Amino acid sequence: GEKETGEVDYVFKIVVAGDSAVGKTQLLGRFAKDQFFFDSKSTIGVEFQTRTLTLHRKRVKAQIWDTAGQERYRAVTSAYYRGALGAMLVYDITKRATFEHVARWVDELRGHADSSIVVMLVGNKADLAAAGQRAVPTEDAVAFAEEQGLFFSEASALSGENVDRAFLRLLEEIFAVVS
Ligand code: GDP
Repeated sequence: GEKETGEVDYVFKIVVAGDSAVGKTQLLGRFAKDQFFFDSKSTIGVEFQTRTLTLHRKRVKAQIWDTAGQERYRAVTSAYYRGALGAMLVYDITKRATFEHVARWVDELRGHADSSIVVMLVGNKADLAAAGQRAVPTEDAVAFAEEQGLFFSEASALSGENVDRAFLRLLEEIFAVVS
């Protein structure tokens, strides 16, 4: 029958990782609230956002943690990663350096999070490819993701393209690990 409001079967902690300004906060806002905030950093101080959905007849609460800008100072702590079942590792398809730093973020995740953590690599700002701003070919990211055992998707927090799909894929993969 109907579950009482607030009652969930699973809580999945998910962390976002990646360089500053790649769109982590916007992706999270898009998934949790289906909004794009034009004044992005007004969300500072919010530690996590949630969205509850049904997967395989179970109520699953995705609890998604944001770095709140700490990555700028390389000050993301172990507490941030502790208990995380999944990670959204984000780079900006228009900034090559943010993709080159992904390997460092993978090391960071492997060093601090549980070894069974499911990682989704996301090439954000895909909307800018049409304007000729792409600096990271899709094939490079596909190859890296395959080599590292990561899931991969390009997405746009601005247009919303692929955002739900990427999060849902991550949640499905976590579900497969925990159930
Ligand atoms: P964070 O530091 O990784 O959390 O990045 P933010 O979410 O604050 O986004 C950084 C900047 O990129 C902001 O100016 C956003 O408006 C912009 N941005 C984020 N996602 C997108 C996107 O998908 N497309 C475009 N064109 N801009 C984006």
